[in-house]
Amino acid sequence: MEKLYEGKAKIVYKTDDPDVLVCEYKDSLTAFDGTKKDSMEEKGELNAKISSAIFSYLTKQGIPNHFIEFVPPRTQKVKKVEIIPVEVVIRNVMAGSISKRLGIPEGTALSEPLIEFYLKNDDLHDPIICENHVTGLGFATRQQLDVIKDLAFKVNDAMKKFFLDVGLRLIDFKLEFGTHKGQVILADEFSPDTCRLWDVNTNEKMDKDRFRRDMGGVMEAYLEVARRIHVQD
Ligand code: ADP
Ligand code: UDP
Repeated sequence: MEKLYEGKAKIVYKTDDPDVLVCEYKDSLTAFDGTKKDSMEEKGELNAKISSAIFSYLTKQGIPNHFIEFVPPRTQKVKKVEIIPVEVVIRNVMAGSISKRLGIPEGTALSEPLIEFYLKNDDLHDPIICENHVTGLGFATRQQLDVIKDLAFKVNDAMKKFFLDVGLRLIDFKLEFGTHKGQVILADEFSPDTCRLWDVNTNEKMDKDRFRRDMGGVMEAYLEVARRIHVQD
């Protein structure tokens, strides 16, 4: 297959069908705009399985998305989209960059979920932008942005429940959207690389923060998430 793009966490290939791509999940782990790097055996397989299970669940919840099928051990067939270059972050609990920026301790619960937009541009360190930037700079129309916001909050409601059922608290996550045949749909991935998950009983971190913060036990945490959602023995 012809390689279309190689990113930090995935390789995207073309297929015979111009509307279909194949995404291969890599073992590499990066943080801080790719300046911190490592590779962990099995990470790609675990994230491919976790993200596939989550997108299947979101399809059942009526969220339009790019996922077609999981192709073991570490690839997915997806609908090709025109990516909207905006990272959409939803937060339920203060953590990470927002805690630092606003000086509010990690773990502080928000009274309602919060949505943020970041420009998808590593060279500029993904700067935070607001809704007017998204529409005014032409990244999305007002109508498309309304769809994105509606879908992002629906994903939050669905995923909070999904994870709570297996003893995990969904702290925050990042989504990407794209257009396919004129429709805005959810794309990219949902995995411990792109969200924060804390054990409901112990508050133990079960996501990429273990890598970002040199806490150790990175793969053990990803494996435990995969086990809890029943995609791994
Ligand atoms: P990054 O580009 O941030 O390093 P990845 O390594 O995850 O990220 O690369 C995957 C790339 O594929 C991302 O740029 C993402 O926006 C893009 N992408 C995800 N899903 C689709 C899709 N369905 N169609 C086209 N591009 C996609
Ligand atoms: N996130 C992501 N990719 C990015 C930036 C953030 O997947 O390029 C996710 C991150 O894993 C977390 C949420 O978005 O679940 C919010 O991240 P934050 O703004 O706190 O940034 P951080 O400093 O942790 O990258």
